[in-house]
Amino acid sequence: MSNYKVNTKCVQGGYTPKNGEPRQIPIVQSTTFKYDTSEDMGKLFDLEATGYFYTRLQNPTNDYVAAKLAELEGGTAAMLTSSGQSANFFALFNLCECGDHIVASSSIYGGTFNLISVTMKKMGIDVTFVSPDATEEELNAAFKDNTKAMFGETIANPALTVLDIELFARVAHAHGVPLVVDNTFPTPVNCRPIEWGADIVTHSTTKYMDGHGAAVGGAIIDSGKFDWMAHADKYPGLCTPDESYHGITYAEKFGKEGAFITKATAQLMRDLGSIQSPQHAFYLNLGLESLHVRMPRHVENGQAVAEFLEKHPKVKKVTYSGLKSDKYYELGQKYLPNGGCGVVSFELNGGRSAAERFMKGLKLAAIETHVADARTCCLNPATSTHRQMTDEQLSEAGIPAGLVRMSCGLEDKEDLINDIAQALDQI
Ligand SMILES: *Cc1c(COP(=O)(O)O)cnc(C)c1O
Repeated sequence: MSNYKVNTKCVQGGYTPKNGEPRQIPIVQSTTFKYDTSEDMGKLFDLEATGYFYTRLQNPTNDYVAAKLAELEGGTAAMLTSSGQSANFFALFNLCECGDHIVASSSIYGGTFNLISVTMKKMGIDVTFVSPDATEEELNAAFKDNTKAMFGETIANPALTVLDIELFARVAHAHGVPLVVDNTFPTPVNCRPIEWGADIVTHSTTKYMDGHGAAVGGAIIDSGKFDWMAHADKYPGLCTPDESYHGITYAEKFGKEGAFITKATAQLMRDLGSIQSPQHAFYLNLGLESLHVRMPRHVENGQAVAEFLEKHPKVKKVTYSGLKSDKYYELGQKYLPNGGCGVVSFELNGGRSAAERFMKGLKLAAIETHVADARTCCLNPATSTHRQMTDEQLSEAGIPAGLVRMSCGLEDKEDLINDIAQALDQI
């Protein structure tokens, strides 16, 4: 599949049925797999042979879909996880242990911010947050001897900042550390971070990849490019024998292309067990089959809504990298030449009460704590996710009380704009 374009990989990647086999990927709804001899099974446990023995570790349905994701992102190996949260946790925890340190962009998803700054901190892993707009010198200054990973989001949720992937990758590599990029919002249809130097890519497949609000899931894709053995002192987990797995040295046995995902599967998935169910992998694959058709429509609707809002007198500010006035327009043109995603955020004049009034007036756009769905949805952080905060606290956190995040779905853009216009009239 590697010679085909992304559009073709979305439809046919990962699974090529042989003569007489099912055209659609089979859902292998089985926790376990049968063997004739203990010897056969022993080889699997020793990672001497490839095959299936227990779905917590591997399942054929998941593997078809993971293979498609590896092809889409241009990686060498991939795995599915039960959520985007577990994907980011596994990607980072596969690199770090107690006593280590991460450099992360401060402009990231709230759940990931919490994961790194609170939960991983309790595990003894420290973090330095850097501005996504930091200079090369400022980024370099954040690194320590024990830094094991750098992290950022291609388009951050919800701030909609665009990551300078080349710059972050250059800095990470200068310190002998891989760059992990959460590529949830653009998806590989609009950006492939590995082509810009990222080493590991993560996804909340719950968003555009599934795209229909049907299944929570996540994924990790390895570029196969990071040379673990060249930095063996930093990555003992990959470069020295794993006593919990028959003394295997992942980087030796599976090379640059396979070590990262094999370790994350054999060790982290074995011990932490956040596997995606085969049924969810099937739903995810249905979403992927039309991802390349849906993403341009999400972008078209996002762009049209952003342009409409920008001209409206009741709107103070619009954030969308497809707008020339946006701070991230230039980076967007570089990394997202076909557009980024359908999520637009804007601040209403009139603060919290205007936002409340506006959202009450919407007929098509539903109020949800979700984004990247076929159906348009929106959220006012001040009256929902951040409702415990005062207006002063909100503005300190960079979330004005009148801020609305709107995830433009696949409806007709004129209908969406008309709906927004009549709701704005009600303020
Ligand atoms: C939603 C989201 C996550 C978390 O994913 P879940 O599937 O909800 O666990 C992580 N990163 C980004 C950018 C997200 O938008």
